[in-house]
Amino acid sequence: MEKTHNHPTDELLAAYSAGSLPLSQALCVSAHLEHCPACVRKLQRLNRVGSELMTQLKPAAASAALKESLMAKLDMLDEETVEPAPSVTDPSIPRCLHQFIERGYEDLPWKRVSADIQTVELCRDSNGARVELLKIRPGGSATTHTHLGDEYTVILEGSFSDESGVYARGDFMVKDASDKHTPVATQDRECICLAVTEGPIQLTGFFNRLFNPLLRRGYA
Ligand SMILES: [Zn+2]
Repeated sequence: MEKTHNHPTDELLAAYSAGSLPLSQALCVSAHLEHCPACVRKLQRLNRVGSELMTQLKPAAASAALKESLMAKLDMLDEETVEPAPSVTDPSIPRCLHQFIERGYEDLPWKRVSADIQTVELCRDSNGARVELLKIRPGGSATTHTHLGDEYTVILEGSFSDESGVYARGDFMVKDASDKHTPVATQDRECICLAVTEGPIQLTGFFNRLFNPLLRRGYA
């Protein structure tokens, strides 16, 4: 496994452990965790702290009727246990994304947004954040852009570099509205990223100004 250099902050991991992250951000953290044993260990520590705190709270007494109905449900579950259907999704795709990807990346309805980039939207979060995959062709540039909200990215395949360095599979990064960056995929292969954008992307540069109204319409 390649070494992952960029990780979610402790605050993000703690919020993930507490189950308080929006779905879109939780998907990015989950995808990162599948590549990063260090963050998995950190999360396990956070989960332990969380459950210790929970045990210090006084449990509400469950009524006898509730207990009975729970036990009956558990019995039923035992009887109904069936083998889960084998997953047909490519195992190299993070498990948290299998709900959106039936087979593999190549079967998705990719839309070309520039000579170098294709995207496919996976879902919208209830907070309006857009969850999508970005595919940058080998050596291709994701053009210079800024965004009005935060942008979360996890590299799923390949690698890219931008003004701050080189990012490889599993790397997790958050850029805020003040970051202007130009990701460029490495020459050897295409790069696929999970991207969550919380506000419309603004392309910068002369020609891109022509495209901005089109992009904004996509985010409306
Ligand atoms: Zn990590």
